[in-house]
Parts: sequence; C-alpha cells; structure tokens
Amino acid sequence: AKSKGRGTFCFFEATMDANRQERRKLELDLQQALETNQFEIYYQPQVDAASEEVVGFEALLRWHHPERGLVSPAEFIPLAEETGLIVPIGEWVLRQACKDAAGWPADIGVAVNLSPLQFRSQTLAHTVVSALSDSELPASRLELEITESVLLTDNETTLATLHHIRGLGVRIAMDDFGTGYSSLSYLRLFPFDKIKIDQSFIRELGSSKDCAAIVKAVVDLGVSLGITTTAEGVETKDQLNRVREQGCREIQGYLFGKPLPLSSVHDLIRGRLPS
Ligand code: C2E
Ligand code: CA
Ligand code: CA
Ligand code: CA
Repeated sequence: AKSKGRGTFCFFEATMDANRQERRKLELDLQQALETNQFEIYYQPQVDAASEEVVGFEALLRWHHPERGLVSPAEFIPLAEETGLIVPIGEWVLRQACKDAAGWPADIGVAVNLSPLQFRSQTLAHTVVSALSDSELPASRLELEITESVLLTDNETTLATLHHIRGLGVRIAMDDFGTGYSSLSYLRLFPFDKIKIDQSFIRELGSSKDCAAIVKAVVDLGVSLGITTTAEGVETKDQLNRVREQGCREIQGYLFGKPLPLSSVHDLIRGRLPS
C-alpha cells in the first residue's frame, strides 16, 4: 500500500510537471503569436431587437496556433492575463478593430473587450486616442466592454481612466452583467452606456421563471438609468421572443450570427445594402 501511495504521488507530480511545461510552452508560443501575425479578429453581429438590423459587431480574438490550430480565447486569454501579455495583445486588438471598423458603413459600430490589466498600464486612454486617430474611426463608433472585475481594484485610477475615455465620446458597456457579486453597485459607480446581460440568464429564459424576472428587472433598471440593454447568447426564436418581450434593445447570439472573419463581415454588410 505504501509503494502504491508513493507511486501515485510520483505520477501526480509528473503530471503537474508536464502541465507546467505545457503551460510554459504555450506562454512562449503566445509571446510569438503577436510578432508572427497568428492572431485574427472575428466579429459577431449585434442587432437591433425591433428592426433586426445590424448595429455593430463585437471583436472576438482568435489564435491560429501553428500546431494546435484554432485555440479558443477561453484557453489563452487567462494565460495572457497571468503573463501580462494581454496588454500588448489587447492594444493590437483595439487598433486592428478600429481600422477594420473604419471601413464599414458609418452607422455600424465596433465593440472591443478590455482586460482589467489594460487599466493598470496607465497608458490606456492614450492608446484609445491614438487608435481612433490612426484609424480615423469616430469615437462614437467605438464601444469598450469591461467586466466588473475592472472596477474591483484600484478604483480611483480606473474610474478616472474610464471617465477620460468616455469623455472622448466612446461608449462603455458592462459585460457579463449579473455574473459577479456586485454588478448593481457598479452601476452607481460609473455611468455605463450599455448593460450586456450574461448569456447564462438567456439560456434559461424558457425554463426558469426567475431568469425571466431577472432579465425584466435588469431591462427596467436600464430604462430608468438611460442605459441600453443587450441580450447575449440568443440562440433560438423562443429566446428572441422572450428577450423582446422583456424589452431588450439589442441582441447578440448565434441566432443572428456566430463570430465571423472580416471578409464575411464585408459580405454581410454588402448584402444588407441595396445594390
Ligand atoms: P465575451 O466577451 O462574453 O464574448 C461572448 C462570447 O460568447 C464569445 O465567445 C462568443 O463567441 C460567445 N457567444 C456569442 N453568442 C453565443 C451564443 O448564442 N451561444 C453561445 N454558446 N456562445 C455565444 P468567445 O469568442 O469564445 O470569447 C470568449 C471570451 O474570451 C469572451 O467572452 C471574452 O471574455 C474573451 N475575449 C475574446 N476576445 C477578447 C479580447 O480581444 N480581449 C479580451 N480581454 N478578452 C477577449
Ligand atoms: Ca464581451
Ligand atoms: Ca459577455
Ligand atoms: Ca466573458
């Protein structure tokens, strides 16, 4: 029994070691990814709930790994955050998304995700200004999505940065609303332009009366505060009808389109325009 115990322990240690090595490898790969153009931005349509017209696209990062193929952001964003690489990567996404969006019709915006770490670099506001001027994208067409974790730490500086950026005319959206512990108190802290209701609430709309009540309450809150609400992760007609019924202004989800490469965005936009 003793030797078996030791064996198990050694095996476990070896596994941990392998994991650590693999992580280290992925970290080095991630470092190279930016330099060797392995990143690509996909864009997911956001539509007006009433007219079903595309009003914007959310920029979602994709990594074409030379050996692994397409790596999901769920896998590499956390690693990029732990290593600090999210700062240069996030800056690349912001600049590229602004350039891409500058080529779209003037009524179509772009939403870019920001990591809490990007607020710690102190240069974020400057980066936003420079991304806008380099791309010539009007500030009103850019939206930045933050989760409440951004507001968890270093409140003063973060809030000052957010106010500065919003002062430029850029919209600020609270992402994944309802998944944290104090989403409500953050609405008091900063004048958000948009609330994105997390997809976990949308998924259960059909089966849970509570979820429907929560979505309705968030939408009503948004109306009182003058904040647009977006329903995330709408996959079915039934969910669409329900979020419409609750009064969500915008919809994002597979029902209207998965994240698409830029070329497909252009096809979609062209299809929308009378030729
Ligand atoms: P998120 O910001 O909440 O983005 C929405 C995610 O939900 C995307 O996953 C999108 O593809 C997925 N989604 C949209 N509609 C549906 C639907 O109807 N059904 C289902 N099942 N999923 C849907 P994705 O692209 O894998 O991104 C995952 C997360 O990675 C994002 O969540 C965001 O937190 C992070 N991320 C992606 N790109 C960036 C980036 O450029 N910077 C930062 N900091 N984070 C990013
Ligand atoms: Ca987002
Ligand atoms: Ca989200
Ligand atoms: Ca998320």
